[in-house]
Amino acid sequence: MTMNNQGRPSRPELVETDMSRVETFSGNRGLQIEEGLIFETDAFQETGVDLPTPKGTASRLGGLERTSEIGLPGLSEPETMRHFVRLSQKNYAIDMGPFPLGSCTMKHNPRLNEKMARLPGFADIHPLQPVSTVQGALEVIDTLADWLMELTGTKAVAMSPKAGAHGELCGMMAIKARLIADGEAETRTRVLAPESAHGTNPATAVQCGFTVDSIPADETGRVDLEAFKAKLGPDVAGIMVTNPNTCGLFERDIREIADAVHEAGGYFYCDGANFNAIVGKARPGDLGIDAMHINLHKTFSTPHGGGGPGSGPTVLSEALAPFAPVPFVIKENSGLKFVEEIEGEAKQSFGRMTAFHGQMGMFTRALSYMMSHGADGMKQASEDAVLNANYVQARLATEMSTAFEGTCMHEALFDDQWLKDTGVGTLDFAKAMIDEGFHPMTMYFPLVVHGAMLIEPTESESKQELDKFCDAMLGLAREAKAGKADKFKAAPVLAPMRRLDETRAARKPVLKWTPPQDASLAAE
Ligand SMILES: *Cc1c(COP(=O)(O)O)cnc(C)c1O
Repeated sequence: MTMNNQGRPSRPELVETDMSRVETFSGNRGLQIEEGLIFETDAFQETGVDLPTPKGTASRLGGLERTSEIGLPGLSEPETMRHFVRLSQKNYAIDMGPFPLGSCTMKHNPRLNEKMARLPGFADIHPLQPVSTVQGALEVIDTLADWLMELTGTKAVAMSPKAGAHGELCGMMAIKARLIADGEAETRTRVLAPESAHGTNPATAVQCGFTVDSIPADETGRVDLEAFKAKLGPDVAGIMVTNPNTCGLFERDIREIADAVHEAGGYFYCDGANFNAIVGKARPGDLGIDAMHINLHKTFSTPHGGGGPGSGPTVLSEALAPFAPVPFVIKENSGLKFVEEIEGEAKQSFGRMTAFHGQMGMFTRALSYMMSHGADGMKQASEDAVLNANYVQARLATEMSTAFEGTCMHEALFDDQWLKDTGVGTLDFAKAMIDEGFHPMTMYFPLVVHGAMLIEPTESESKQELDKFCDAMLGLAREAKAGKADKFKAAPVLAPMRRLDETRAARKPVLKWTPPQDASLAAE
């Protein structure tokens, strides 16, 4: 029986049953409610509100009005609310527990940020309002831009990109625009990227019309300097490097890489998704970068996950700054001005990437995070993120094999060498973590590491939380090594959904709900 620190039982004695086989009359299991989609209710006549049918109004739909039932679910307000709250509880969230996903940087978003973003002066304004009425909002954008340039040691930043990948596109389009301006676009067509790069790097380069040439990693998990130099030539447009890289390691040769690519006439795109490991410690501008996106939603705490929202401001070197996308904010004596047209100070701009200003709500949250932390606080957040990752690495390395030697930056990377001959794979291990109440780590990325398990605790987690996580991981690791492969193959057994057919989900995704009668028609 588990006891709390007062010596009282913290939960009743478990009756020995196989929890996965318990049947209930309702189909519900404890507080996990078994229910269909909201469309699958058969009460179509009820509504949350009762409005009388309007009298004496002639249809203006010109014969296009609906002739059959609309088929919307008929639910009362409490039923609707409960359905969506229960749905939300099926979703794991950073507010429920640690999110050890590497590369994604899932950190706590202080409630203060939310409060600031909801101030009516920020939340209730409209992007088409006259500029004179939104000077405060423009000042938020401008102040955040100043901080981003200060922290990165750069002279320009494009604020409008709406995610990391969008920022990559911004940076690579600026490089392309510069090559066009210099008459080099036809000849410089090759972009170098390390094998361990995030998929968005090569995808962006290809989207911009470049071909991608991949650089191997050396045995320490970093860019192989000799192989990289051998690939330089007059057709190289640039290099895309993540630093710290996706193996959680600092690219020690970054200055030499920057100098070499510049000498060859190319540009240096830095993927800044892992900036959270070095904020306040090193300035990418000093490391020789020409463009770098900053995932505000990773580094500066704004919430993300489930596909959005994000924000990817992209800092630019002096060589690329004139090509920055519109719109942008500039200071004038009369106040802040919003530059939208490709003329004047924006005459060389490569164009526009998005309607309006970018992610205003994320700007407010990120600035709130920065100002409440201060320079010393942001530096400490980077240090704590690195410390936490190394603590996890050191504890887990007692049972699991690290992918590379030495300490890591903000994330710890393991391979599946330690699972050899156990019959348990990385996927099985991740599924067993769900039964233990933990969201799995990032699996099988980066691709350069066999069966990779990438763990990023961030600075959000306390030592107690890290210890709970490590204890569960180590317990599972010992079981895997002790030949309990069956348990891992069956996992998760305690989750509402058991093991899913992930191949089918990826190959034949069902993205649309079809009413049952339609489905039967389709089958005929
Ligand atoms: C997250 C991430 C990206 C992409 O950022 P999004 O905001 O998801 O578009 C690019 N590179 C790396 C290394 C990342 O971790």
